[in-house]
Order: sequence, then C-alpha cells, then structure tokens
Amino acid sequence: MDENDFFYHPLENIEDVDIFYESVERNRLTKAISAERPYTYWTIELYDQQNGIRGGGGLGVLAADTRRVAERMGVPFALITPFYPSETHQVVVDGKVIDGHQKKDYHDYGFRLVDTINIKCCGELSKLEVIQKQFKNTRIICIYEPNFGELYSDTSGSDHRLYQEVSLGFGGYQALKLLGLKPAIMQLNEVATFFAALARLDELVKNGMDFYEAVVYTRKHTLYTNHTLVQAAEAEFGIEQFERFVFPNLHSLAVKKWLRDKFDNGKLKLSSVTIEIAELRSGVSKLHARVANYHDIAGNKVKFKAVTNGIDLETWLLPEILNYYLDAGILDQDLAPTPDYTNKIEYLNASDIRDFKTMGRHALNAILMKHPDFEGKILQFRDDDYIFDFKRRFVDYKRPDLPFRDINRFKAILQSRNAHYILTGRVHTGDEIMSGKLSSILKRVSDDEYLRTHVHYLPDYDEELAYGLSVGCNTAINVPIVGLEACGTSWMKDVGNMGLLISTHDGGVADGPISAYLNVSGSSEEDELDMLYQRMEESIEIFENDFDLEFAVKKQLSAFIPIISGARMLKDYLDYLFSK
Ligand SMILES: *Cc1c(COP(=O)(O)O)cnc(C)c1O
Repeated sequence: MDENDFFYHPLENIEDVDIFYESVERNRLTKAISAERPYTYWTIELYDQQNGIRGGGGLGVLAADTRRVAERMGVPFALITPFYPSETHQVVVDGKVIDGHQKKDYHDYGFRLVDTINIKCCGELSKLEVIQKQFKNTRIICIYEPNFGELYSDTSGSDHRLYQEVSLGFGGYQALKLLGLKPAIMQLNEVATFFAALARLDELVKNGMDFYEAVVYTRKHTLYTNHTLVQAAEAEFGIEQFERFVFPNLHSLAVKKWLRDKFDNGKLKLSSVTIEIAELRSGVSKLHARVANYHDIAGNKVKFKAVTNGIDLETWLLPEILNYYLDAGILDQDLAPTPDYTNKIEYLNASDIRDFKTMGRHALNAILMKHPDFEGKILQFRDDDYIFDFKRRFVDYKRPDLPFRDINRFKAILQSRNAHYILTGRVHTGDEIMSGKLSSILKRVSDDEYLRTHVHYLPDYDEELAYGLSVGCNTAINVPIVGLEACGTSWMKDVGNMGLLISTHDGGVADGPISAYLNVSGSSEEDELDMLYQRMEESIEIFENDFDLEFAVKKQLSAFIPIISGARMLKDYLDYLFSK
C-alpha cells in the first residue's frame, strides 16, 4: 500500500486535521502489517543476554519479552535499539558496590553488519554501523558505534545521552530504509526514542507531503508507551544541544520550526513533543494509566490507554510448570489463557505444587553455582529450606530496606522456621544514597551471628538470577510505595512459578483483586511494616499445610494468569492499534 492511499483531500489548516483523523478508520492499518511493513518497537534499553545485550531493569526485560512473544505469535516485528560496546557488572568491595566494565563484541552474538550510515552531530558526520540479527518473523536491528559508551552512561540531560538517542532515532530510521522496511506502527518505549518518530515526520515532509498531513500521518502511526509517573521528574534538553545534535539531521524547515516552537525558555522535555507526535498513548498497568500525571503543551491532562505489561511465559516459567499449564488447558498455544482457565486451575493440587517447587529449587542451586554471594561464597539450599526473596533494582521507592527496619522481629521470623532471605538488585550507578543503604544492611547482617548465615546478598542481579529465584524460592517480597510502581514484572515471574507473593497494591499487582495475594497495606509505614512481618509469618504457615498452599496458589493463578501473559499484552496492543 502506498503511503498516500491514506489521504482523501489536502488539508488547509489545523482544524481540518482534526476532522481528518477522526474520519480515518484505524482498521485500515490491519492489512498494512506484513514482513515488509512490520510492527516496529523502539527502545533505548533491551535486556536480552542471550542475544548479547544487557539492560538495566524492567524496561529492557519488557522489550525483550515483547519480541519473543511476537516471534511465537507470528507477528512481523522489528526491534530497534543501540548495541552498547560495554556493559557494567557490579561487585561488592569492603561493603561498597562497585561497577566493573566488560567489553562486548556483536559478532559473538550472531549479529551481522548490514551497512554503515551517517548522522550529523556538532558539525561533523558521525558514522554508525547498522547490524541485525534475524529470527523467523522478528528481528533485532541495532545501531552501533565504538564510542557509544554504556547504557544510561552520563546524566539524563547530557550531550552524550542526546547523542545516543539521536543515533537511535535518526540512525534507526535510516536503518529501516536500508533494509527495505516501512513501519506499520512505531511503538516508542519511553521518550528516549522520540527521534525515530521525528525522523519519520521529517522524511514525509521532505518527500513532498504537506506538513500537517505528515503530522497527522505520523501521529496515527505512533504509539508512545509511558513508564514514568511524573513528567516533572524528566530531564530537559537545551536548545543549544538541539542546535548541535538534532536540527542538523532535519531536512524540512517546517519540521525545524515546529520543533523550535516547542521550547519553553530554551528548554524542552521530550515527553511534551512525544505526546504531540503520538496520537496513541499507553500506560503499563491500569493504575499507572490512571495516575500518570502528564500534560500536553496546551496544558491538558494526557489520557493513557492501559495495556498492562506481561512476561514471555516460556522465558520465565520453569519448563515443567509451563508444560503443566499447556497440558491442563490453562494456557493455549500462544501462551494466552484459555477461556475456561479458572476451571482448569482447580485440578492443581498441593503435591504438584511441592514437586514443582522442588524442581525449581534444583534449578536455583544450579544457577547459584555461577553466582556467588557478595563475599564470593557459593550458596546451595536444601529442598526443605524456606526461602524469602527480594529481587529488584535498588531504588528508594521499592524499599529494599523495609524488611530490615525492625531487625529483631525480622530475625525472629526467620528463626521460627530457620528460613533464609535472599536479597539482590542493581544499585543505579552513582546512587550514593542507595549504595549507602545497602552497605548499612550488609553491615547489620554481618554483625549478627544468625543473620550472617541466613541473609544473603547476591551482587550483579541479572535475568538468570531473576529466573532462578522465581522458580526456586517460596515467597517473594514486593513492597513499593503505593503509587510509585508503574507495573513491575518480577512479581509476575513469582506468581507464574507458584511462589507466594507478598506485595503492596501497586503497579500491575493492582490490576488484580487485593484478596488474591498476601497484601501489605496500612495508613503509615509502621503499619505497613507490621503487616509485612505478619504476611511473612503467614506465608510460612501456608507452606506448612497442603490445603492452605493449594488454596493460596490457585487464588493467585486465577487472578493473575491473564495479567502476566505476554501474549495477552501483545493482543491488547494489536487490538488498540488496529481494530478500533
Ligand atoms: C524481571 C526483571 C526486572 C523487572 O523488575 P521490576 O522491579 O519488577 O520492574 C528487572 N531486572 C531483571 C534482571 C529482571 O529479570
């Protein structure tokens, strides 16, 4: 289909534009998705270690899972992301977290050089390599350059970040053309990918399309997925940075003027222009879509469609558990829930659950052989050890230190069952406060003879540890401050693998009913802490009793199987994009 097929009449002014896009039926796009016209997914972060790319957290894991789900469902899909020549690995030295760096070579992971392209930065041409790895119906296209540095290196409003983002956007758009691909849809995974949509707008105008038509066209084909709650927290770029990195890559004077006019006092937040260039906008859980506080340039609150994140169940579930869900008719071949999945869950019994947890425990032990604790010790656990885990980025709002606030009560709970507590999570580079909190936890633990052997910190948290802990632990703890978690996906891995979940009612967890899991709530942090300890005691009791265990796990699965399914997520996106 020719791009001009979409236009019935030339547009005179901005009012016409509104009428125009109200009159276009979205379902015309359905026919447009094909091998040459794939679903394109833009992300500054990908977390896909199998394919050589290590991310920082949930945003990258989601990107990798989305591609894998598309691959299974046969959806033509291209993921465009940078290949960073170096990645960090954290170690603990004298109680302090330190970043180590490891060089990466894309040839080691099956990527092939397609060709080189140029973008213009600071009065010079910058040469970028386009590399690609192809799967059946999906592909990963990377923009690579030896001076890219690392993911999230430098501060968020820095020249270096802008350079990385411009390289991905303008470079990635050229890469698609090089490969003969036209995007059926451009999904922008957060605003760092804005420049991809800008490159498209610029190209349409350069090719002779009226500017307003080009804006409408780009808007209709762009989905902005927001993962952040507060616009105010976003870094700004200055106009002088755009003069050096952005404007030289634009051909159209009209596009340059449009963009220049968006600056306020010489500053620009990428979200404000991303909202303008994307008519389709989504948040990553029901709660997040409702509370995300974003305004467009006219000052109106932006509405986000809720498409709750899901996970690729084949990646994250113990294979025996995945097969059980398939054989029992809980999941279909896409790994989406069957129509009567709740009835099928009823057949699950405590002895199955205990068998699966034992198999998961063995898988965890195998993974722990490769991941020593922070002192270099290899941990191994017995089948009947009770393990709590807390595995997530070490950021303030996730409260990794909460369980340690009343250390005596915490210790008494562990002692009652001789239980273990595994803690893991990346500290953001340069985050002195959280690095200090971790050091203080490690010190309090090592000062106590009992805790020293029952609380374990695993450095360099990654996908493999996330998987091992999800399949091998009894109870996972997820206690973000309510209202601050956009979705979270690590709790999904725990629920899918039949562990018990202790959580605050936040992010994607709040898509389900409060009664479906071991909820932590309270009107003060003290109340929440008290409830967290009660829930830890309760989870130990639940595992002591077959009836209670069966009841709790079935309840969690009935509530959350549709929510955690990545196939459900991709279907929701396709529905939103193509069938309205
Ligand atoms: C699943 C996963 C995450 C997501 O964590 P949330 O705290 O739930 O957002 C982050 N990092 C890794 C390595 C993961 O596997």
